Amino acid sequence: MGSAMTTRRDLLKGATLAAAASTTAALAIPLSSTPAPESSQPKHLVKIGLEEHFLIPEFIDYFATTYPNISPQIAKLGLAALLDLGDRRIATMDENGIDFQVLSIAGPGVQVEKDAALALMRSKLANDFLANEIQKHPTRYGGFAHLPMQNAVEAADELERCIHELGFQGAMINGQTNGEYLDLDKYSIFWERVQALQVPIYLHPGNPVDHPAMYANHPELWGPVCSWAFETATHALRLVFAGVFERYPGVTLVLGHMGETLPLNLWRFDSRWPISHRGSMTLVQPPSFYIRRNIAITTSGVCSDVSLRCALDAMDKNKVMFSADYPFEKLDVESRFISEARVTEAERTQVASQNAKRLMRINRPIGRTSQT
Ligand code: MN
Repeated sequence: MGSAMTTRRDLLKGATLAAAASTTAALAIPLSSTPAPESSQPKHLVKIGLEEHFLIPEFIDYFATTYPNISPQIAKLGLAALLDLGDRRIATMDENGIDFQVLSIAGPGVQVEKDAALALMRSKLANDFLANEIQKHPTRYGGFAHLPMQNAVEAADELERCIHELGFQGAMINGQTNGEYLDLDKYSIFWERVQALQVPIYLHPGNPVDHPAMYANHPELWGPVCSWAFETATHALRLVFAGVFERYPGVTLVLGHMGETLPLNLWRFDSRWPISHRGSMTLVQPPSFYIRRNIAITTSGVCSDVSLRCALDAMDKNKVMFSADYPFEKLDVESRFISEARVTEAERTQVASQNAKRLMRINRPIGRTSQT
């Protein structure tokens, strides 16, 4: 979305930075051990996206609460693409070599709804709508459940319905709900169910309920440039330090945007956690143990070889997965990034689709060629 505002000067600056980054990368990153396939015989790289959004008309007002995070000139530009799940989206996927999208409501959805009963009703509406669209294009679409997190039992029940009856891959949660984070005791029953169902929970950025002073007079920091990553990373760390992954070792949390800065900081979490003021919190293992075991990440919106290399080396590389963040990022740029990323060919196929197939349990035939 941001590139629509890009000026010529920004483009030039970007080109210079990109050149500098690639020079650095050439020094720091070992070359792929397997040569890239000959361009004359391009082999199709299967790509699955996991942070691919849509909307239904009833959710536009919820989505509009994110307009202040984006330049007013472009905040509404994604609406038409979000509302389309038909030929236009499929054609865009085909043009950009995307085989399969696991679809999710563009946030925050019912998580900003004050009426819990309405939140439940609209969650079901969104999930039933999505299930119907998936049925029309089962080789191209999967789904993440939209959940009414106001009530942990209702959220768990709706998740179970979406997995068992609608065949979804997992759920997406857009950050806090009414100021409550997922490490609170009230959500134990939810995590218990998530573990039993063995499905991933994608923790997507959202705004906090307050507006911290550190963002005052800096609207550019309020949103995708800065605040969303720190809000989401902190939320994930709350789960780590509260021992949620110790109590529910089978849970997989998914973070977008190359792990929302976490992969870069594992060593420091382990080093500084023992000397921090921990209150009554204890962990059997160092924080990085849970982050590697229980957190998967996607590449959404971070097309950087340096960042991907860091993520693959710092995290469990079997849990690093491609995503595009459609329609908020440029699909051609995101798709080309994973095709050309400076990783081994084994890593490329794992990131592009293999890890997602396994973690999301996508067992049916997918992609354009498998359509009948
Ligand atoms: Mn997104």
